[in-house]
Amino acid sequence: MNEEIQSLKRYISIPKYIVISSHRNPDGDAIGSCLALAGYLNQLGHTVRIVLPSELPSSFDFLEGIDDLLIFDLKPNECIDAIKMADMFFALDYNSLDRIDKMAEAVMQSESHKIMIDHHLDPEPFADTVISDPKASSTCELMFETLKALGCSKFSSTMLNALYTGIVTDTGCFRHAVSPRLMVNTAELIALGADHDFLVDKIFNSQPEKNLRLIGHCLHNRLEIFPEYHTALIYLKKEDYEEYDIQRGDTEGIVNYLLMLKNIKVAAIIMEQPNIVKISLRSKGDFSVQDMARRFFNGGGHKNASGGFLHSSISVALKKFKDSLESFPSLISTKEIYNQ
Ligand code: 5GP
Ligand code: MN
Repeated sequence: MNEEIQSLKRYISIPKYIVISSHRNPDGDAIGSCLALAGYLNQLGHTVRIVLPSELPSSFDFLEGIDDLLIFDLKPNECIDAIKMADMFFALDYNSLDRIDKMAEAVMQSESHKIMIDHHLDPEPFADTVISDPKASSTCELMFETLKALGCSKFSSTMLNALYTGIVTDTGCFRHAVSPRLMVNTAELIALGADHDFLVDKIFNSQPEKNLRLIGHCLHNRLEIFPEYHTALIYLKKEDYEEYDIQRGDTEGIVNYLLMLKNIKVAAIIMEQPNIVKISLRSKGDFSVQDMARRFFNGGGHKNASGGFLHSSISVALKKFKDSLESFPSLISTKEIYNQ
């Protein structure tokens, strides 16, 4: 990593036009890492634009700097122009160009120096400089370490809160990916001024009533358990989207409720969205949902948290998910243990 940091340091030593990007359906880690890096590059006198493929959930409206983001779905030409003009292009919190949809075309054509900073497994080789660490809890944790290594000595409250937001959201408020390294970085962020109470309240305790009613609906009416496979599933149909006025980000976190069940190792939520059927997967312990996402759902992610999609009907997607369980010997072997 040292070599990458040194080369990055050289690249940013002269003011440039820099585009920072993250993946579609941006989450707290995507948005937080973009805002934090932008904060630092602005300090150095660069001209910076943050570009995202699709809109962000309104739950992150409280973050400073959020109003200056460019969204490809809303302003495609402005985004393409920004990417074309850029001397440097940062890819944060994603490891393959298919995560940025149509923006990928402009990126491939651009002659900018491309830097990936990410914590997903198996980065694709599209960047010139790669800072990848799948052991990091979040891109924001890796970003904090990267910024310090680059020599950042002034972390503004905007940067600190952005970094903390990504850590808190990607770890489910310190429930997973916890390590001594994470705790040391977190302690340092708090010591520097990240506001834990404020952020946790904004991120987790600011839900509108309809979201809680949606969780109730999911758990009461849309839950299926496959005890022999230690697997549980929630699905949402088009009519649920209408009835509960489900907006971007509203389904975030619902899949995690399934992991509260005793004996459940794999959890899935399958959602009938306008153009695709989206699937989010979570697991406990050794079972890799990344493998499942890659083999059956055109996706990927991490061992214990992955996602993907299908261009199919919801009923075909549900059947595919159920059938896929048969393909995992580790689940089938636990099936025997369960039946004993
Ligand atoms: P989520 O289920 O919260 O949408 O995503 C969980 C993890 O899976 C994230 O790390 C995300 O990057 C990854 N992921 C989600 N959807 C996709 C997808 O369509 N393709 C790939 N490659 N990864 C995905
Ligand atoms: Mn992340």
